[in-house]
Amino acid sequence: MTELYDLHCHSTASDGALSPAEVVQRAHQHGVTALALTDHDTAAGLTQAMACALATGIRLIAGIELSASWQNKCFHIVGLGIDPTYTPLVKATYNLQQIRLERAEKIAGKLEKKRIPGALEAVKKAAGDGMITRTHFADFLLSQNHVSSQQEAFDRYLAKGKPAYVATVWAELELAVNWITEAGGVAVLAHPLRYKLTANWMKRLLTAFKDAGGQGIEVVTGRINADEIKLAADYATRFQLAGSMGSDFHNPVNPWIELGRLAPLPKDIKPVWELLG
Ligand code: AMP
Ligand code: MN
Ligand code: MN
Ligand code: MN
Repeated sequence: MTELYDLHCHSTASDGALSPAEVVQRAHQHGVTALALTDHDTAAGLTQAMACALATGIRLIAGIELSASWQNKCFHIVGLGIDPTYTPLVKATYNLQQIRLERAEKIAGKLEKKRIPGALEAVKKAAGDGMITRTHFADFLLSQNHVSSQQEAFDRYLAKGKPAYVATVWAELELAVNWITEAGGVAVLAHPLRYKLTANWMKRLLTAFKDAGGQGIEVVTGRINADEIKLAADYATRFQLAGSMGSDFHNPVNPWIELGRLAPLPKDIKPVWELLG
């Protein structure tokens, strides 16, 4: 049987639309044989996902996507093959949850100034026990007809430079990589082209990431074209990083980002799963 890896996706534990079990089911239906659930700053979905994976026969890799700050910018570090009970990692996710809650209060305050009340209650309710994310705010703005799409919510309110944007200090990059590595996992730089860095900044970032113990970089992500794959693969080669692939699936509404719908990893790239136990 040919393996199909999807090492990046989200559930209701953060800003995904499906429960962890539903994500696993859907991945299985789409031919994924090895799945990493990588919710934003939380491992809380992994227990349910694992139970479903065992019942389904799909291989589940315990994952997380940590929000990290470096040089006043936010980067996402995916951890693969982590022990989700590793105490410093658990503590870190608790801190990040607080950071997210405080940021949510500030975002809601800014929206209120724009005469959009009720956001905090709405996102808290929508997130439930899970992490509150900007996606929840986007969904709230959409539900109240302030925007006509999630994308528009980011473009008009939530993205950097927009009226409801709140600059946030996340975990330090070096710490985030350390927690993952010490939890027995492999740290992977998520969606490297989404940060819109110059080549020089990219070089600085990858140097810092490698120095901290980072071992992988996403080369194939959902909705990426052949030129972009080549660019990301070049970074993997130049910085001797293993290549990962993951859809960053969030919900079934966007058919162009589907679980397992991924181009193959370029042949000359060392697959990150070779580093997983
Ligand atoms: P947060 O970590 O709470 O700041 O939220 C980040 C999440 O918002 C990302 O993981 C994406 O799922 C989503 N997101 C960020 N930027 C955009 C955008 N421009 N359009 C749609 N979704 C976005
Ligand atoms: Mn997200
Ligand atoms: Mn991300
Ligand atoms: Mn993601």
